[in-house]
Amino acid sequence: MPAPTSPLKAVRGTRDLLPPETALWNRVESVARQVFARYGFGEIRTPIFEDTQLFARGVGEETDIVSKEMYTWEDRARAQSEKAQSLTLRPENTAGVVRAYIEHKLGDTGQLQKLFYIGPQFRRERPQRGRYRQFWQIGAEVLGPVTSGSESPIRDAEVLEMLATLLDELGIQNWQLQLNSVGSTEDRKRYNAALREALAPIKHQLCEDNQRRAETNPLRVLDSKEPADQALIDALPKIADYLDHDSRAHFAAVLSALDACGVPYTLNPRLVRGLDYYTRTTFEFTVPSSADPASGLGTQNALLGGGRYDGLSEMLGGPRAPGIGFAIGEDRLILTLQAQAGPQTLEPGTSNLEPQKLDAYIAPMGVERNPPALALARELRHAGLSVEVGDGTFRLKKSFEAADRAAHHIVILGEDELATGVLTVKTFATGEQWKSPEKGIVQVLRADRFARGYREHAMKTELLSDDFLADRREETAREERQDAESDAEQVLRKRPEGS
Ligand code: AMP
Repeated sequence: MPAPTSPLKAVRGTRDLLPPETALWNRVESVARQVFARYGFGEIRTPIFEDTQLFARGVGEETDIVSKEMYTWEDRARAQSEKAQSLTLRPENTAGVVRAYIEHKLGDTGQLQKLFYIGPQFRRERPQRGRYRQFWQIGAEVLGPVTSGSESPIRDAEVLEMLATLLDELGIQNWQLQLNSVGSTEDRKRYNAALREALAPIKHQLCEDNQRRAETNPLRVLDSKEPADQALIDALPKIADYLDHDSRAHFAAVLSALDACGVPYTLNPRLVRGLDYYTRTTFEFTVPSSADPASGLGTQNALLGGGRYDGLSEMLGGPRAPGIGFAIGEDRLILTLQAQAGPQTLEPGTSNLEPQKLDAYIAPMGVERNPPALALARELRHAGLSVEVGDGTFRLKKSFEAADRAAHHIVILGEDELATGVLTVKTFATGEQWKSPEKGIVQVLRADRFARGYREHAMKTELLSDDFLADRREETAREERQDAESDAEQVLRKRPEGS
C-alpha cells in the first residue's frame, strides 16, 4: 500500500469527544439517569441500524429526515437463507423503541412502559455549530395500552415536569418550554387541508424551500425561519381553531396540571414539529438564541423536542398504544452548559472540567525499579487510590514536573526506599516531604483524599458546620501522616548499622 499523503480525518459532520470534555458528558448522562430513576424509567438499548421501512412508516416518507437525511444502504445477503435488505442508521430513536415495544409484546403486561435511552443518531444534515451528522440524544418514552392510563394528560404534564427538573438539576439557565397541541390525526387532516387552501394564493411570494413544503408537507412551512416569510406565515390559519372537543379538553388538562406544578410555558401555535407521528401535545425546550451569547447554540436553539404519538404503534403494525416522549440533543445540552458556565456547570478551565488530579505519582529511580513501581501502583490502585507510574529513565526533575501536573503526591522509589521499605513522599499542596513505611501509605493517602473532598464540599456550601468538619478531616489526615512518619523513623532506626 502506498504511504498516505495526508492523515485521515473524522468524516464531515462527525467529531471526536475527548477528555476532559467527556467528563462533562458523563456527568450529564449520570444526572439524567438519576432523574429518570426517580420517575420510574428503565433503560432500553435498541440497535443502531434498523429496517429502512421502520423509519419510512414511522417517521413519514415526506419528512426531511426520511426523504433526504438518512444513511441507507442495501445490505447484501451472506447466505442462501438470507435476503438482501435495505438498512438505515437510526435518525431518531422513538420508532425503534415502539418497534421493540411491539416485538416484545410489552403491552401484554397491561402496565405503562416508561423507557429511556441514551445514544447516537445519524442524519445527513448540513453541519454547523450544534448540528452534526452523528449526534447524541437522551430520550424517554411513556406508552402502553389505554387501560394503563397512557392517554391521560397527566402523563404529558409529568414528562414536561420531569424535563423541567432535569434541566434545572443540570444547571441549564433561562430555558423556555414552548407548547402546542396538533390535535388528533383527523384534526391534522382538516388543518392540513385548510393550510393548503390558504397557501395556494400566496405560495409564489414565499421562498423556494417553503414553496416546496407548501406542496409536499404544508405543516413544515410553519417551522420555517426564513425572515422574509414570517409575516405571511403568522397570518396563516392556527391549528388551535381546528382541534376537536376531546383534543381541546386534553390540552386544557395538560396546562392545568403544569400550572399546579408551577412549570412555566409559552404557547406557540406554530410548533408542529417535523415528524409525522405527532398527535396532540407537542413541545420544545429552547434556550435564548444567538443574540444572547449565553446560549452557545447560535441558531440551533432547540435543546429538545417531543410530543404525543397516539397512532404510532398502529402505524408500525402493533396494537393501540398511545404514548408521549422526547429527545434531548445531548450535543446542544453540552454546548449550552459550557456557554452558561455557572459555578454548578462544568466549563473548560474550571477545576471541575480539568483532568482530575490523581492521588499519587510513583517515580521509579532507574529502570530496574520499574517492576517494583508497577507492583506498588497495583497495591495502591487495589486500595482504591488513583495512581500514575513514571519511568525509570526519567531524571528526578522530569519526574517531579510530571508528578506535579498529574497528582497530589509524588512517591519516590529509589535504591534506599526499596532496601528499607520506607518510601519518600512529597505533598505538592504544602511542599512538605515525608517518609512512610510502604504498608502505611494507603492510610495516609486515603485520609488526605477524604480531607480534600470535604474541603471542596465545604467551600461550595459555605456552611460553617461543613468547614468545621473539613478542619477535622484535615486534622485526621495530619495525624495519619505523623503516625506513618514515626513508624518510618522506627523502621530506619532498627536497621543494622551499614545496611
Ligand atoms: P428531533 O428528533 O428532530 O425531534 O430532535 C430532538 C432534538 O435533537 C433537537 O431539539 C436537537 O436538540 C437534537 N438534534 C436534532 N438533530 C440534530 C443534529 N443534526 N445535530 C445535533 N442535535 C440534533
